[in-house]
Amino acid sequence: MSVAIEGAAQVMRVPDGVPYLRSADEVALEPGDLTLDVAADARIDARGCAVIPGFVDCHTHLPFAGWRAEEYERKVTGVPYEEIARAGGGIASSARSLAAASDEQVLAQAERLAREMLQHGTTVFEGKTGYGLSREGEARSARLGRELAGRVVQPMTLTGLFAHAVPPGFTADEWMDEAEALARECDVDALDIFVESVAFGNEHLARMGRIAAATGRPLRAHAEQLSTMRSVPVALEHGARSLDHLSRIHADDIAPLAAAECAAVLLPGAELMNAEDTAPARALADAGAICVLATDFNPGTSPILSIPLIIGIAVRRYGWSVREALLASTLNAAWVLGRALDPDDVLVLDGPAEHVPYRLGHNPVAVVIAAGEVVWVRPDQAWRVGR
Ligand SMILES: [Zn+2]
Repeated sequence: MSVAIEGAAQVMRVPDGVPYLRSADEVALEPGDLTLDVAADARIDARGCAVIPGFVDCHTHLPFAGWRAEEYERKVTGVPYEEIARAGGGIASSARSLAAASDEQVLAQAERLAREMLQHGTTVFEGKTGYGLSREGEARSARLGRELAGRVVQPMTLTGLFAHAVPPGFTADEWMDEAEALARECDVDALDIFVESVAFGNEHLARMGRIAAATGRPLRAHAEQLSTMRSVPVALEHGARSLDHLSRIHADDIAPLAAAECAAVLLPGAELMNAEDTAPARALADAGAICVLATDFNPGTSPILSIPLIIGIAVRRYGWSVREALLASTLNAAWVLGRALDPDDVLVLDGPAEHVPYRLGHNPVAVVIAAGEVVWVRPDQAWRVGR
């Protein structure tokens, strides 16, 4: 039995056995066929199409409850953030929605969204805790994350973002004691912290690094998003797997990050929707950083789940080539999650790879093959798939 993908205009290939690439020069996009020796039987007509690995979204905030669309409208029409926060907006709003929703409501919404992600080509994704904002709430969030993983088509990893915001009634130092307890008692794959003037500082990042080392989890951090905190040297000293956002990274920190085995996870959807600075992505790529793209899919700052749309924004704003963007959303993103690319996760696009960023807003995904199974065929592309 096999899935035979025939006559593709471009097949994207990366060298065998490399965990990540620091340059897209080694990414090939050549005409060809691809045969998957799997427990399914299908023949796919890929004439005119690019065939690429499934997208890996290594930074989302699933599972969350509800949305914050009114807040978005207030934000774009000029209401100051302080006023929105005073009115109960921001992370606190998502925390209330999560607390008010039943387990089944949370899981059903997240499951629907994961299905929508699959139709946009995401075949592996990461989720986080972080909207619990209490010891019990975060423990529940971790449990729901694992339950979600059992209900979705895609492999899902879970990150404990136990230090997301300082809950009312705590100082940041006091909350770090709770975050440490959560890190020890919850079943998560990695640890994360929001380092920002309104959240946690570099001393808390260092402490999270020690907790990560002690509990055997990779350290990740939301860093240099809204202000320049000089978190990069601290995170590198603690062996971080990734630094995410980096819109405000200090120029002196680009070269050390690029030289380290630590990914620069760039989130152009959040930069756009939250009116943030643009990360120096061209400089990071030129310096040889392990560059990664992700959605930051969350109800506040980036309600975007489409990696093709993220690629479109990145190519335009970062001055990246299509190969660079594809590398950043496949092989390099998988490495952040401690995974190799699954050769049986494959997308057939409805046109060449160059159309992904160019036709901004169009979903180019025609056929999704996950773990060797055809799991999604866009209705207008059904003629491509036969037996
Ligand atoms: Zn995030």
